[in-house]
Amino acid sequence: MITLQDKVVFITGGSSGIGRAAALEFAKHGARVTLADIDIEGGEDTACQLKKMGADALFVRTNVSKESDVTRALATVAAKFGRLDIAFNNAGITHKGGLEQCTEEDWDRVVNTNLKGVWLCMKHEVPYMLRQGGGVIVNTASTYGLVGAPEVSSYVASKHGVIGLTKAAALEYGRKNIRINAVCPSATRTPMLQLNGDMEGIWAERHPLGRVAIPGEIAQAVVWLCSDAASFVTGVSFPVDGGYLAQ
Ligand code: NAD
Repeated sequence: MITLQDKVVFITGGSSGIGRAAALEFAKHGARVTLADIDIEGGEDTACQLKKMGADALFVRTNVSKESDVTRALATVAAKFGRLDIAFNNAGITHKGGLEQCTEEDWDRVVNTNLKGVWLCMKHEVPYMLRQGGGVIVNTASTYGLVGAPEVSSYVASKHGVIGLTKAAALEYGRKNIRINAVCPSATRTPMLQLNGDMEGIWAERHPLGRVAIPGEIAQAVVWLCSDAASFVTGVSFPVDGGYLAQ
């Protein structure tokens, strides 16, 4: 049985979708959770749901692509909980459009959030973990971090980058007792999936299981990766994809 009793967990993108589902799943296993997100209303709502479950919870407004925001959020975690056991670097955005139509601003927004954001978070999470002798990090990539897709080039590039960064970091910190993995969801029922209208039926058809994921299914994989049940797992890109990559 997985237990994360009193583990201190930091989650980016916790105001919505997969991040919110992960927060609830971590709390179910006894963890104390800090949510970092640019969306204040959603973050406070998630924190409220966690507190109703009896969990210790905190929301810090954070833009993961700004270093000063990331350091402030982690300093808040340290001030309240005194340590950092687990980080789920999950905040992300997408941009739909052809490679030629993608503007420099579009590119920077996606890459700065999805890739630079994960790097900044790890850069400032690792020192806390080193100081206490270890920790666990999971970064959210995507099946689009492992295969290409048309019309989402900045997103695909950013998620391939997250996988490379995860492998590099896992090699750098393995002997320091920090495990670092990436989770690779495919289509999951969150606001991100609905950005371009209701595409769920089309996405369902593309998956051998004949449906999209619900956020809790990704969350359970993340919690497993962060638990002692995965104590020999590091540097992997773990698909939770309904068979998408098997095709
Ligand atoms: P979502 O839109 O529901 O949640 C994303 C969260 O990230 C939001 O709360 C948003 O406010 C936050 N965010 C965006 N930019 C931010 C920033 N600069 N700083 C801090 N927070 C920021 O989407 P989701 O589906 O839950 O996405 C979570 C992660 O899962 C993303 O990295 C996404 O790329 C990845 N993913 C999603 C799917 C899917 O089909 N939904 C598939 C594969 C991967």
